[in-house]
Amino acid sequence: MAEQFQVYAIRFAHREASVRGEHFYGHDPCALDDWPISYYVWLAVSDSRAVLVDAGFTPETAARRGNRDYLASPMDTIRALGVAPDGIGHLVLSHLHYDHSGHAADFPRAEIVLQESELAFWTSRHAGRGQLAHFVEPADVAYLVEQNFAGRVRLVDGVHEVVPGVTAHRVGGHTPGLQVVQVRTAVGDVVLAADASHFYENVERVKPYGVVTYLPAMYDAFDTLHALSDRPELIVPGHDPQVLQRFPAVPGLEGLAVRIA
Ligand SMILES: [Zn+2]
Repeated sequence: MAEQFQVYAIRFAHREASVRGEHFYGHDPCALDDWPISYYVWLAVSDSRAVLVDAGFTPETAARRGNRDYLASPMDTIRALGVAPDGIGHLVLSHLHYDHSGHAADFPRAEIVLQESELAFWTSRHAGRGQLAHFVEPADVAYLVEQNFAGRVRLVDGVHEVVPGVTAHRVGGHTPGLQVVQVRTAVGDVVLAADASHFYENVERVKPYGVVTYLPAMYDAFDTLHALSDRPELIVPGHDPQVLQRFPAVPGLEGLAVRIA
């Protein structure tokens, strides 16, 4: 039988003091309404493999940037779910914003899967410019450049089978090489949208996020998310606090981990 995965969303940080206007594209009539944001990584585990999607940010980065509640190290929650960081065979980075790439060095045995266009952009002349620079930690990018020389980074272009049952799909839009991940489970295909849909409202109401590289690609990404699963409830947004309400908590890890499938 084809390999099936269990999928967990792991919340490691939260920012309560946040308003809608920070998040939605264009003029939002409710721009000053409260709009908390959560930060996640996602773990897919089968009988023989463990794949991590995204690497969060470190407590040091949280302290430097301020204004964020660091709830628990994603490393600790991964261990609590029964997976040793050394047991992660593949680390898929959706994109290189600081909140998705910070712990890459803590999974020394993992092959790191990244779209080539994403790494290319963050080593281009635009990387250090104004608001663009704000979204990345240069040390994270430098680490990936170095690891690419060491042969540990798999730079891919478009669709890539990470392992049987887990595929990465470049969608762009939010960043040039943003990718989403489809995972085969017992209840259907789960789609880890990461920042192709920060919140449920983005994909469910076709409302783009405010940080945009190319707006048409962001709309196409919503279509891709639906194409990758025939069960829309299995499309998991990248930053929505509601993920903790829509899926059951892992006993003992309430507020930190939910079982998606
Ligand atoms: Zn993000």
